[in-house]
Amino acid sequence: MNKANIETLLAHDSERNPNGAVVPPIFQNSLFTFENWDAIDEAFDHRMDSFIYTRGRNPTVKLVEEKLAALCGGEKAQLFPSGMAAISAAILHCVNAGDHIVTIKNLYGPANNFISSYLKPKFNVEVTYVTGKEVSDFEHAIRPNTRLIYLESPSSAVFSLQDIEAIAQLAKDRGIKTLIDNTWASPIFQKPLAMGIDLEMHSCSKYIGGHSDVVAGLIVGTKEDVESISLKEFEWIGAKIAPFEAWLLLRSLRTLPIRMKQHQENAQAVARFLENHPKVQLIRYPGANSFDQKELAKKQMTGFTGLMSFQLKTNDLEKIKAFVNSLKYFHLGVSWGGHESLIYAPAISYLKELSPEQFTSLGISLGDMRISVGLENKEDLIGDLDRALELV
Ligand SMILES: *Cc1c(COP(=O)(O)O)cnc(C)c1O
Repeated sequence: MNKANIETLLAHDSERNPNGAVVPPIFQNSLFTFENWDAIDEAFDHRMDSFIYTRGRNPTVKLVEEKLAALCGGEKAQLFPSGMAAISAAILHCVNAGDHIVTIKNLYGPANNFISSYLKPKFNVEVTYVTGKEVSDFEHAIRPNTRLIYLESPSSAVFSLQDIEAIAQLAKDRGIKTLIDNTWASPIFQKPLAMGIDLEMHSCSKYIGGHSDVVAGLIVGTKEDVESISLKEFEWIGAKIAPFEAWLLLRSLRTLPIRMKQHQENAQAVARFLENHPKVQLIRYPGANSFDQKELAKKQMTGFTGLMSFQLKTNDLEKIKAFVNSLKYFHLGVSWGGHESLIYAPAISYLKELSPEQFTSLGISLGDMRISVGLENKEDLIGDLDRALELV
């Protein structure tokens, strides 16, 4: 038989279950017992392939990791209890005290904090932030002690892209490890490992989970890299994912391809509506006609997901609040990538520290809105935005 296509691999998982159970059971046990001395002795000799204690390996978690590795096209996957646990483990795997990291200016905030407010003061890790739209941005930033190039494409907040294949090659030629946060594109629409990246990371709290009921993270890469992370950063920090949460991800994976198609269809419709609306100044969305890196987007992604931002054509805070508060289907909250549409205004966090004037001087507008387009009917979503925009 030919190798199954990805939709089949993700949807089909009944063949190995006891009693013909159509859904795999959850191995909700902390330890595993053995017949005799020799059996447990043997298990310790093959720790990566044995079930001894759930802080290490667990059958439910392993089943999900195997599907995720196949989905991303990697040799091996390790699940984590959050995206941030996966990010910090991956960075710690790649750098030693005094090493240098090159990453992008619009890196996911907490990841940036982990590097600049933790690794830097504590372990003297150096970091250079680049815009990242040009490959030469990275080339110029590389130093003799550079050990990691950390990408996020599309990036947080502004959705700018990096040329993944070219940067992976640049790093390989110099023996530098590459890590990418691939959360925005999802493993359905972007395959960084096939483009030469060493480690692919996801927050499974977003599209991979997709139902806003799990916080989890993922690293995929070669057997050598991932097993080293599993035995050291994963086991020693004790960042274990609960078997139940892994099982929820298994549930989510069955519909991941079909969900992503619908997120894309809905988001494209919403983007077109916003792009043409007189009260919208601009939109930032890699799938939009107006996106400045459209060629690169088409080259390295096969589709576009549901997270975008746009700018209202006003700086009147009362009108902006009225717009947000009047939305019926876009609920106000952080995070994204679930079945439900969400809205968030960066001004909510920034205004705690800055005056409106300082805020606008950063090039961010009070009227900047981030939306996560969910799986509701797209006409309902557009209708909701259209009605709320009348208040602007
Ligand atoms: C949410 C997010 C993370 C962190 O994931 P958690 O599961 O919340 O820890 C990392 N990167 C990006 C781009 C994210 O949006």
